[in-house]
Amino acid sequence: VVMGIGVFSVIILIFISAHMAKKSLEPVRRAYERQKEFIADASHELRTPLTIIKTTAELLGMKEQETIMENSKWLENISSETENMSKLIQNLLTLAQADNNQIPVFMGDVDLSKLVRETGEKFELIARDKDIEFESIISDNVHLTGDKDKLNQLLVILLDNGIKYTPEKGKISISLMHTTDKAIITVKDTGMGISEGDIDKIFERFYRVDKARSRDQGGAGLGLSIANWIVREHKGKISVESEPDKGSSFIVELPKKRK
Ligand code: ADP
Repeated sequence: VVMGIGVFSVIILIFISAHMAKKSLEPVRRAYERQKEFIADASHELRTPLTIIKTTAELLGMKEQETIMENSKWLENISSETENMSKLIQNLLTLAQADNNQIPVFMGDVDLSKLVRETGEKFELIARDKDIEFESIISDNVHLTGDKDKLNQLLVILLDNGIKYTPEKGKISISLMHTTDKAIITVKDTGMGISEGDIDKIFERFYRVDKARSRDQGGAGLGLSIANWIVREHKGKISVESEPDKGSSFIVELPKKRK
């Protein structure tokens, strides 16, 4: 009987340790799966512009009689796809380095009022070009401890999306408010909006509500993942309120002092 109990205990022990080993390896397995998915998605995204460039170049090669001017449309195609590809590679590098904590974050005093005003002014011109109304409401003298370039990149991602997903005659606004301990930036648009089912997913890498539409605008679904990372680096919070066909608001809350 004693031997039986001994053997039984050993079996139970083996079973428990195998189960624990499996459980402790779970995060590693998940990270590996995520990495595999990232590489597969990235390769797929890079293949599309490459295929377009290759096909266009082949078409150009077949048109012996035409002058460069006559072929300008095709050359523009190559140029814009190359531009898309280089943006995509830059974004992929940013996320890969962010995963490995390889991006230096330079925390210093940032005049957020000035940054929001200056970046807003640049986008006001782009909005006007697309016949979109632009408004900015900026509290004066809002400072925080942060990385100026990264915060600028965050504003660019949100404003760029606002313009991409808002049709002509729409409106975009950026506002900066503050409380004693945090700054609140809101980028609001009257664009196509995001459905409830998609809202939780838009911060995932490569997620796009409408793949074809977003690609036409040069997007690969990485902007909001980068925005999310920048907000996290600043110990802040990003949230979305949206209604299909009415518009979206992206709200960023950033602590003024880094804890
Ligand atoms: P992309 O480069 O494709 O725009 P993002 O990561 O910035 O990638 O955004 C992910 C997806 O979220 C977009 O493809 C789009 O479907 C949706 N989205 C982001 N911003 C907005 C917005 N302001 N209005 C409507 N949809 C948006």
